[in-house]
Amino acid sequence: MEISFAGKRALVTGAGKGIGRATALALASCGAKVIAVTRTQADLNSLVQECESITPVCVDLSDWVATEAALQEVGPIDLLVNNAAYATLQPFLEVTPDQFDLSFTVNVKAVLHLSQIVARGMKARGSGGSIVNVSSQASQCALRDHAVYCATKGALDMLTKVMALELGPYQIRVNTVNPTVVMTKMGRLAWSNPEKAQSMLSRIPLGHFAEVEDVVNSILFLLSDKSNMINGVTLPVDGGFLAC
Ligand code: NDP
Repeated sequence: MEISFAGKRALVTGAGKGIGRATALALASCGAKVIAVTRTQADLNSLVQECESITPVCVDLSDWVATEAALQEVGPIDLLVNNAAYATLQPFLEVTPDQFDLSFTVNVKAVLHLSQIVARGMKARGSGGSIVNVSSQASQCALRDHAVYCATKGALDMLTKVMALELGPYQIRVNTVNPTVVMTKMGRLAWSNPEKAQSMLSRIPLGHFAEVEDVVNSILFLLSDKSNMINGVTLPVDGGFLAC
């Protein structure tokens, strides 16, 4: 299936590493003008070196005011990928308020904020658009030591559905992808221990983790007009984990 984003302007958060970086590069190679947002300048430098057409924006999305300021000049956006997230591992009884607040600030509040900024522009222009929020299988299935992360992704799924409901009349579609483990920096944090990894692998019918490309392809599909009638869904990219 050929997907072209020629003439479209796309904003990707967490574009410095992992899934976000690969999404930014894939969108650019499909013809989109990409704005890459992340908080580490060195990652943006290497990204622009890899793909000159990408516009870098360096901001910590946990800072509401700084985010607002950083995005003032980015211009109209047709496609938004809310990918940046924070993950921390804490047993439920040891969850600390600082980790709770940071996780919800990045994984939920920043998504709401970015989406408000972008969707207000889409509504004003009457141009419609597509938003993909990168959630997780952890939104729908309990994972040990992931109490706060699971809670943020559950909240993100529900936020997505309400956005789909309220923004649909403006032809703005909002969906999530919900990957299983991907061995990025974040994936390695939780799943590099072979025993732990095996316990997860044994619950995935396909018997392997997702590759970055598996997630990117699903994001591109949901952003594209190939999914024109898909709105408010949570799309597992999990080899069947959530089906069992
Ligand atoms: P990575 O850790 O590889 O990359 C995350 C990117 O987000 C980094 O560039 C990071 O920047 C950036 N980021 C994090 N916090 C902020 C912030 N406050 N402001 C700006 N940028 C920020 O993660 P993945 O690629 O693995 O994850 C991408 C998405 O996929 C996340 O939403 C994650 O929850 C989801 N996901 C991942 C899974 C996995 O197993 N990897 C499984 C299921 C879902 P920096 O490095 O500078 O902090």
